[in-house]
Amino acid sequence: MHTQSLAALAEGLRRRDFSSRELTEHFLGRIDKLDGELNSYVTVTAERALEQAAAADARLDKGEGGPLTGIPLAHKDLFCTQGVRTACGSRMLDNFIAPYDAHIVELLDAAGMVTLGKVNMDEFAMGSSTETSFYGPTKNPWDTARVPGGSSGGSVTAVAAGLAPVATATDTGGSIRQSAALTGLTGIKPTYGRVSRYGMVAFASSLDQAGVVAHSAADAALVLQAMSGFDPRDSTCVERPVDDYAGALDQPVAGLRVGLPAEYFAEGLDPAVRAAVEAAAAELEKLGATLVPIQLPNSPLSVPTYYVVAPAEASSNLSRYDGVRYGYRCADPANLEDLYKRSRGEGFGDEVQRRIMIGTYVLSHGYYDAYYLQAQKVRQLIADDFRKAFEQVDVILGPTTQGTAFGIGEQTDDPVTMYLNDIYTIAANLAGLPALSMPCGMLDGLPVGAQLIGKHFDEGRLLAAAHAYQQATDWHTRFPGAFA
Ligand code: GLN
Repeated sequence: MHTQSLAALAEGLRRRDFSSRELTEHFLGRIDKLDGELNSYVTVTAERALEQAAAADARLDKGEGGPLTGIPLAHKDLFCTQGVRTACGSRMLDNFIAPYDAHIVELLDAAGMVTLGKVNMDEFAMGSSTETSFYGPTKNPWDTARVPGGSSGGSVTAVAAGLAPVATATDTGGSIRQSAALTGLTGIKPTYGRVSRYGMVAFASSLDQAGVVAHSAADAALVLQAMSGFDPRDSTCVERPVDDYAGALDQPVAGLRVGLPAEYFAEGLDPAVRAAVEAAAAELEKLGATLVPIQLPNSPLSVPTYYVVAPAEASSNLSRYDGVRYGYRCADPANLEDLYKRSRGEGFGDEVQRRIMIGTYVLSHGYYDAYYLQAQKVRQLIADDFRKAFEQVDVILGPTTQGTAFGIGEQTDDPVTMYLNDIYTIAANLAGLPALSMPCGMLDGLPVGAQLIGKHFDEGRLLAAAHAYQQATDWHTRFPGAFA
């Protein structure tokens, strides 16, 4: 059951070949047996899952329910889940029981999905390896000595190893796409504003966007559709009807203009990754797409721009964790200042503290103009590059990452190398564009991902292009042998 598509699972449930309870128990059993080694779950909500499964079965018995009713999923542990711990990979929130549900949790619950639990992530989603989590690193099921990427490492490992059929995730600078690429999954970050951020623990509010990681574009389409939509509780959420992503999967690739940015195939890219992505481009061409060389001249500025903007917003967002209202509080504070200092010093890990310090610095008097304001201007230039490119092409294709999954511990002492993991993904966040990663090859037993970036609100087209590619290839069907 853990290797079937969501459509196949839905069909099996609808025909009552198996119940949602049986399906849920199957995944809970696998979590029990295999997650000790992988560390993808932080909290398993078995009891609640079985209650939700029973409710789904009651609907299915009556012939009711939709395409996701009775299908289990895992939520990244930064989506608030009422009555369930939402720890965000941090000691700061280790004791935080969310008093309400995130908008996407409400929507997926209403669709009849069954929450298996909450999955691991880099602390406050800051990282590219899931090593900054307070709960320890998550392992990559393709090679447990390697990272699954980050910050959505728990989401991708759970799905790639068959411990959940699908999972939610978030992407501030690449967390959905980079993690999906390193574990052989399809992950989509929709347009900024497509999915509500209500109830999602904030990292960098102008960049954060929720999405989904799955085995295929078809699976991702079903879940993205159910979690998208207007929500007045997020002022940046766009009031616009949700496209029928699943229904549009079969739109043809013929005539699609695919841009290949010179800057994404330049120095730094592993030649074997390059070859795999070029083969994906050739496959799309075979399906009738036209390949168009393009330029995104400001892309080398995306990482430095992000590492001013994201920490600035993080320093502001994380000021709420003061040891007073909720979250971690130090023992026996001597006075108020000591309470603030020690609660934050003990509650936040090193990477989070580094970001808060960078953010506070770039926003401070005297440096604001030099760093923050400059970064905002460069962000506009990066968005303009895409605007111009999309006058010539419909989608942009490139690598998701420069190489395959790296070893646990390999980059932890070198934040700048770690930051460069997102060199191809960050620009889409800065410009608010939808982007997807899909598996396009294997290198020494490790998956390689290709990235598709689209125009605003063109996620349907990205999913359709990935679906067409997946109809013609079988990279997305590979499963890590050790966890079969
Ligand atoms: N790796 C990037 C960072 O550390 C992006 C993380 C993310 O998308 N959440 O900020």
